[in-house]
Amino acid sequence: MAEQETDEREFIDDTQDAGERERAHRERGTVRPITVVGNPVLHRECADVTEFDEGLAALVDDMFASQRAASGVGLAANQVGVDLKVFVYDCEDDEGVRHVGVVCNPVLEELPAERRVLDDNNEGCLSVPTAYAELARPDYAVVRGQDTSGKPILVRGTGYFARCLQHETDHLYGRLYLDRLSKRERKNALKQMAEGTPRYETVPNES
Ligand SMILES: [Zn+2]
Repeated sequence: MAEQETDEREFIDDTQDAGERERAHRERGTVRPITVVGNPVLHRECADVTEFDEGLAALVDDMFASQRAASGVGLAANQVGVDLKVFVYDCEDDEGVRHVGVVCNPVLEELPAERRVLDDNNEGCLSVPTAYAELARPDYAVVRGQDTSGKPILVRGTGYFARCLQHETDHLYGRLYLDRLSKRERKNALKQMAEGTPRYETVPNES
């Protein structure tokens, strides 16, 4: 039996009013430029969120606005240059169901070996503009964390949404999907990035 059918814990419902919630956040927020690979803020673990205040709520609004402007399905705070463990997402799963949410201080749960079914789909990242690479990841993910008021939450996803939850959690620990590729695939992705032009504003790296 699939893990999601046997796990009796209470998961958040991030599908209810997904469109309305996403719009409300982004309309309050301001678009910020996106940091790219090489910027130190993307390559170290972010600080834990300890203040669940209006500052955090405003950051989350800005992140939703920035995510939408860049046509992203997930965005971590260090991708807008903020050193805090929080990510937002607006992502469909493989059944076409839209999930919208925020996770502070995420921790990815280890899956039991029998549940580790790998899916090799293409993966991209707003911080590696215009590049894509195939990357095998488990097709099911559970993330523990807190909502913007500090309340503990559990989020789970399947398919592409599971990939998103893993990718965004990785970001907050200083890890890009590039770091999970072979040397050759990584080089290829960086070449794609060098040859492409992002369709959204990025933060230039200091050289
Ligand atoms: Zn990314």
